[in-house]
Amino acid sequence: MTLSDDILSHSAWPSSPGVIHGFTTKATLAGGDGLDQILGLPRLRGRFHHAGRLKQVHGCEVRVEDGGVVEPRTGDALVSDTPGILLTIATADCLPVLLCAPRERPVVAAIHCGWRGLRAQIIGKTLQDLSRLFAADARDVQACFGPAIESRCYEIGPEIETPFGARSVVKADGRIFLDLAMEAQCQLQAGGVAPRNITQATWCTKCDPERFYSYRRDGPGTGRMINFIGVTPG
Ligand SMILES: [Zn+2]
Repeated sequence: MTLSDDILSHSAWPSSPGVIHGFTTKATLAGGDGLDQILGLPRLRGRFHHAGRLKQVHGCEVRVEDGGVVEPRTGDALVSDTPGILLTIATADCLPVLLCAPRERPVVAAIHCGWRGLRAQIIGKTLQDLSRLFAADARDVQACFGPAIESRCYEIGPEIETPFGARSVVKADGRIFLDLAMEAQCQLQAGGVAPRNITQATWCTKCDPERFYSYRRDGPGTGRMINFIGVTPG
């Protein structure tokens, strides 16, 4: 990942020209989640006229964003192929997953992946909607992950462990840890996304208080990072 203008992004991801993505840090937007300021960021200004957002509820509802709805709806994944519309997902430890299906007019998605959303199969549901609504084949989908809490910092109780695959649950010294990124990777692959089309992130939100907000570290009052993707017009 590269850091520029206090925004993290994956260089050379995705392969589609005209698709812009990024993950904000504490320094990107002054105070709070700053979503209202996001369209003013240098790399987005003049290219996007609407930032879609959701009232995130750790569920598995997928919403199509075309700029027509102003009030945030409940849901945890946004999909769109409308140029000039930015999709945003707010996180502080949960894993942001961005998708892009390259084609003449690319279709993109932003997914909020905590343990509840992953347990509810939000990734598979988003892939199904990309196929059903936009005729996007999962074999063409490119995925990338943003900063999230890593498994060794993410201890869970035994009541949460059951629905997750053995690869996603790590046990050490009688404690149980969940690997959100591994679970997301497994679900992407189960949905037909090729392993070579999945780009991982390397940062832990809890371990880097300079750069990231962390719910586990700072509690519910902490700020949120804004993770975004969109298709530019023209
Ligand atoms: Zn950590």
